[in-house]
Amino acid sequence: MVDPTFDSRQRVEAVSPAIGAAETAAPAPLIVGNETIPRGRRVRLDLPVARLPTGTMMSLPITIIHGKKPGPRLWLSAAIHGDELNGVDIIRRVVRELKPHRLTGTVIAVPVVNVFGLIEQSRYLPDRRDLNRSFPGSARGSMAGRLAALFMREVVSQCTHGIDLHTAAIHRINLPQVRANLQNPDTYAFAQAFGAPIMINSSHRDGSLRQAAAKRQIPTLLYEAGEALRFDAIAIQTGIDGIYRAMAHLGMYAPPATSPPVTLEAGETRWVRASRGGIWHRSIDLGDEVKPRQPLGFISDTFGDKPVQVRSPLAGIVIGHGQNPLVNQGDALVHVASIKTDDVPASDDRQDS
Ligand SMILES: [Zn+2]
Repeated sequence: MVDPTFDSRQRVEAVSPAIGAAETAAPAPLIVGNETIPRGRRVRLDLPVARLPTGTMMSLPITIIHGKKPGPRLWLSAAIHGDELNGVDIIRRVVRELKPHRLTGTVIAVPVVNVFGLIEQSRYLPDRRDLNRSFPGSARGSMAGRLAALFMREVVSQCTHGIDLHTAAIHRINLPQVRANLQNPDTYAFAQAFGAPIMINSSHRDGSLRQAAAKRQIPTLLYEAGEALRFDAIAIQTGIDGIYRAMAHLGMYAPPATSPPVTLEAGETRWVRASRGGIWHRSIDLGDEVKPRQPLGFISDTFGDKPVQVRSPLAGIVIGHGQNPLVNQGDALVHVASIKTDDVPASDDRQDS
């Protein structure tokens, strides 16, 4: 849990004389994978992870953009779930554009954390573990635990802030959204600066990267957008714009030219589930506003007989839905979020997917 005495400004100042700390304290050199990273440079590293049964060495590709001026250190990570690809392209495009001489502070970009899963086009590791349930990991632990420990040691422990990029799990799709601990004022401001269409207060799931980072008092955002194994142009552009705005908020980079978006804050969020198995006919789309009891679609048998209406249990907007028309009883169909007003308490039971 977050240390109540934590003040992220102290962390930023510790490495950032440019934004207010004593001029005398020289920031420690940045060392990743035993390499000292020079200031004002872009450096590509491949950190050895493990030797495969083929004898090939599997490595973790990292790009570090170490600005001329010291400042906050932000990590960008994607594909912790190996089939979640939008973040891979978000990082590619951010990293190509960033100019080290214009950057205050440092960006450590890891476009594919679950290198094993990406090859298999799978969320999981070859040992069937979920990497985002394996943090902080251990150097002598399982395959997932070792990869998590490497990422914590070489990336997270070097950083003052983090943005972890995800998509919905397979057969689902998400409206671009930020999940974060909005009860922490610094994380709230960071999430608001990112400016996704919606932000959701989210508790930490055991073993997630976000939980491990929170224990180190590092404000971390989880950006969720689009679906697994697909590129989604809007989800990618929203993520790129959000990262630039978040960096501008931290004083790292010039703000983007685009006008600041309207970010809604979710109150209650709820998955509407199938009351029976059958063929699901969805009649709403991502971002649609829905009223209580409004039909979201119907489930029927293959001939369309015995249709069962599926209705929204609350007023809100559609932030995610299933993509597969074949549903079993209990399957998640539509994710609806109410929009927070003063009389709706924030949901505190959302967890990282
Ligand atoms: Zn994910």
